[in-house]
Formats: sequence, C-alpha cells, structure tokens
Amino acid sequence: MSDKDLLQKHNFKFQKKYGQNFLYDPKIPAKIAENCTESEFPEDGKKQEVIVEIGPGAGILTKELAKRFHRVSAVEIDENLIPILAESLADFDNVTVTNKDIMQVDLPEFVKEITEDGKYPVSVCANLPYYITTPVIMKLIEECCGFGYITVMVQKEVARRLCAKPESADYGSITAEIGLYGGAVKLFDVPAGCFNPRPKVDSAVVRIKLEQPEKYPKADARNASILIKAAFGQRRKTLVNALSGLAGKIKTTDKNELAEIISQTLGVPGDVRGEKLTADQFVTLARALF
Ligand code: SAM
Repeated sequence: MSDKDLLQKHNFKFQKKYGQNFLYDPKIPAKIAENCTESEFPEDGKKQEVIVEIGPGAGILTKELAKRFHRVSAVEIDENLIPILAESLADFDNVTVTNKDIMQVDLPEFVKEITEDGKYPVSVCANLPYYITTPVIMKLIEECCGFGYITVMVQKEVARRLCAKPESADYGSITAEIGLYGGAVKLFDVPAGCFNPRPKVDSAVVRIKLEQPEKYPKADARNASILIKAAFGQRRKTLVNALSGLAGKIKTTDKNELAEIISQTLGVPGDVRGEKLTADQFVTLARALF
C-alpha cells in the first residue's frame, strides 16, 4: 500500500503545528539515506551504524535508512502517526519508534541505550519540522552525544545559514556554534513540489560533520557559545558593546579593557563586530575572558 493510501486508510489529518510536510517520492529519501554519513557501504549493503531519525512521518525516510543501517531509532511527536508507522515499517525488524517530543528526550541516555553503550557509531538523519529547526540542531550539537553526522533537510534559507562563511550576510549564531564542533556542507536542493502538503519555500539537505574527538574541551565550547550568543543577539553592535552586557560572567565588562583584550588576543581592531569572527576566534577570546 502506498503511503498516501495508508494515510487515507487511517484518516490522517496533516497538522501544521507539527510542520508536517511529507516527502512522497522515495528517490529523495533514498538519496538522503545514501549520503547521510560518509563511511563506505560494506558489501552486504548495511553500515554498522545507528541512526536517530526525528519526525519519521509516515516512514518514507525511515525505510530507506533501515535498508542501509544496522538500526534506526525514530522519535515522532504525533501519536496519530504511531499506528501508521507500525504498518508502514512492519517489514523491518531494525527500527524502533518512540512517541515523544524530541525536545523532551534525554539524548545522552537515549543514545547510550540505542548504541548499546557506545558499541555502534551514531548519527542523526531527519527531514526536520521547520518550526523547530534551530532549537533541535542546537540541542543535537550542544548535548554532546557523540553524533558523527547530523544530516537534515531544512528550508533553503536555513541551509544557507548553516553553511555560511564569516562576514557573509547568512553567517549567524548557529553557523558559529556549528563551527565549535565541526562544519556543514549542503548536499542538494529539494524543490517545494516534492512535499505533500506543498510548503511555501524550497528545501535543501545539509550534512553537519561533528569532529570526533570533540574539537574543543567542553568548557571552551560552552564559554565560546556564551560569547557567540551575546555577539549575535546584538548583531548591529560592536563586539565590545555586545560583551559589555555580560557582567558577572566574564573577567571584565569595561569597554576599554575589552577592546584591548580583543585586539591583543585576536589581532583585530577593538571595534570589530562579532559577525566577523570565526568559531575558533570565539574560543580564543573565551579563553582570555573567562
Ligand atoms: N520524515 C517524514 C518525511 O520525510 O516525509 C516527515 C517529515 S515532516 C517535515 C516532520 C515530522 O516531524 C512530522 O512527522 C512531525 O509530526 C514530526 N515532528 C514535529 N515536531 C516534532 C518534535 N518536536 N519531536 C518529534 N517529531 C516531531
């Protein structure tokens, strides 16, 4: 039975509040599953890796992942999709579906369980609900669960932000945050017409690679993240002005001293704007300020 027939059989109603735009052409999920991690496929075709899928919908991407990976653990918020998923995934014995909001999942605990305590590499692959893209990505990278890759389908404009270079108009706090842990590349575009219901904008698939072992000690990444949030929260201000609001958190909020530290540690003018700095520069500055 096609996904469309299955959804009809269960009298499924798409819920806008959950960002439900489902793929219906299996070629696209197949291409996503094929490219969501970079290791070679072994001869038997299945990578010995575990994939966390967020929002399986009717299971179109889940099936393509289950064909190619040792195990898929999907988390779906909409309870109406659970019986539909049970039917559409009935042929696979390597998939589990948890009916939960991903934002409420204790990720380190969840990952420990599904990887049998770290026995398998783990990555994330998802056609993300658009209303929650940035908080989900931040949770996935900041909770440091050992994900090798986070491959996500997002709106094209978000894809540009995830992959932007410093100083470009698209460079933002999420770009710098990703830079603390690794980097992102765009894999391919997906036109709006490939979804049901059709969204207003086109999408793109982005693969974020997180360095293993982690690029920076946790404290450095955490402190740099505080500076990044302050810098981009007040994007039009100079970095000095943005950081001067961090009283009690950093060594000094005196503007002259801050300008001096910025120019000495980074070799850039003291009146630089935060959007010019790379993730690595935010870490260097964090080491001087915390
Ligand atoms: N993977 C399917 C596909 O590609 O056709 C569906 C993708 S659809 C864009 C997003 C999915 O995420 C929906 O199934 C939706 O119910 C689910 N979802 C929305 N918010 C969620 C949340 N907070 N936690 C888990 N799943 C969520």
